[in-house]
Amino acid sequence: MSEEAVVKQEGTSGQGVAAGGEQAGARPGGAVLEGTGDAAAAEAAAGRDGGPAAAGRKKAAVVRGAGETPDLESYRGVGIFIEQHGSQAAPVAWELAGIGRKLADKLGVELIGFVAGHQVEAVAQEAVERGCDRVLVMDHPALGVYRNEAYARVLTPVIREVKPEIFLLGATTTGRDLAGTIATTLQTGLTADCTQLDVDPETRLLDAIRPAFLEKQLAVILCKKHRPQMATVRPKMMEPAPRQPGRQGEIIRVPVDLDESTLRTRVLGVIDEPDPQAQLERADVVVAGGRGLQDPKNLKLLFDFAQVVGGVVGASRAIVDAGWIGREHQVGQTGLTVRPKVYFAFGISGAIQHTVGMENSELIIAVNKDPDAPIFKVADLGVVGDLFAIVPALQAELARRLDALLAEEPEAGGAAGGQEDGESQGAAAAARAGA
Ligand SMILES: Cc1cc2nc3c(=O)[nH]c(=O)nc-3n(C[C@H](O)[C@H](O)[C@H](O)COP(=O)(O)OP(=O)(O)OC[C@H]3O[C@@H](n4cnc5c(N)ncnc54)[C@H](O)[C@@H]3O)c2cc1C
Repeated sequence: MSEEAVVKQEGTSGQGVAAGGEQAGARPGGAVLEGTGDAAAAEAAAGRDGGPAAAGRKKAAVVRGAGETPDLESYRGVGIFIEQHGSQAAPVAWELAGIGRKLADKLGVELIGFVAGHQVEAVAQEAVERGCDRVLVMDHPALGVYRNEAYARVLTPVIREVKPEIFLLGATTTGRDLAGTIATTLQTGLTADCTQLDVDPETRLLDAIRPAFLEKQLAVILCKKHRPQMATVRPKMMEPAPRQPGRQGEIIRVPVDLDESTLRTRVLGVIDEPDPQAQLERADVVVAGGRGLQDPKNLKLLFDFAQVVGGVVGASRAIVDAGWIGREHQVGQTGLTVRPKVYFAFGISGAIQHTVGMENSELIIAVNKDPDAPIFKVADLGVVGDLFAIVPALQAELARRLDALLAEEPEAGGAAGGQEDGESQGAAAAARAGA
């Protein structure tokens, strides 16, 4: 990714559209983003709708408002939305705490957590221990289950009051849904699905960085004239902030005035189905396959292997598009981003649209018969050979070692180390966790 071209795009939004229009012609990279709002500009810059042509189409989305530039100096601090469900923080919340802390330190400002929900004391406390200096808590029964209207109504005035210069949310279903409403209400700029973030302490501008034009370029999108500078951040791209028990911070309970009868959405019930996507995103071990498997019946190879190592099955888009396996298994740009301890790639060429979804895995093990397959550029361990010979052999060997390890388990608590190398211990642990 590092050798790819970086296109700097400028975005303005809401009432700033006039300025956006003026600058549009001068923008590098060929994407003419005339008179679009930031959200639209960001999407267009990212080629989501086909790039420049789409940007042209979006001309119609011009929002005409009072062109007043807010007093940028009055905005300070980095705000993060601490997403939670059922009083459990979403993993992306602590990933935002990690990157948010770095940005705040670079700017010399506070990291401010925003928690909305019901009975979320423990989440607020953990936010402090994960690096927030201040946590604003909006606790109300009507916020128990996420609803756009209720959350936006509660959060937007608080953000307006607190005036963070940057405000980040996770690019989850909830975060993406909420971010759009908040950004349009505050009439500010939003970049969706960022994979990197940085900030310039001189200009205090957030570099909202995301793949663009089918991942071939990185777009750096700026929001120069509006605040807060908003971005959603793709889960699993940032290191989660470590928990520091005993870390001190201020927890502020914000009174919430919400009348259930004024909300248009009713939640009748929540169906608690095991979510296969969430399973893949949380897995410690992912066993992924691609077109090299040659026939859908050979998927059995993946599922058998996954069972032995306690892993979850992933797939390239090629075999998802071919209808071999459901889309909930797809890893990559248009699928899921995973960050397991071990990622097995069997018969996957390693196209950038695939690797962008798995390159942050701790250990990548690839089997491919083509020594020039790009997957070997991101693999830590690679085997050049026929997967139909190698995968079953690897599985048999891993099963043998795991059996040996698990046989020693009754004396557990004691020294499991010494007999096996680290890799198979990791696999054993994963197998136990998955069992
Ligand atoms: C807009 C866009 C979005 C995309 N999003 C995604 C995405 O989210 N995820 C994704 O995965 N792709 C995505 N793609 C597609 C991506 O570009 C590749 O086409 C795709 O990842 C290729 O899948 P593959 O590696 O399974 O197949 P191939 O590229 O066909 O690779 C198959 C590999 O298997 C190897 N092989 C064959 N037989 C054997 C054998 N017997 N033993 C060992 N190895 C063998 C071959 O050497 C080859 O390297 C996207 C593309 C576009 C344009």
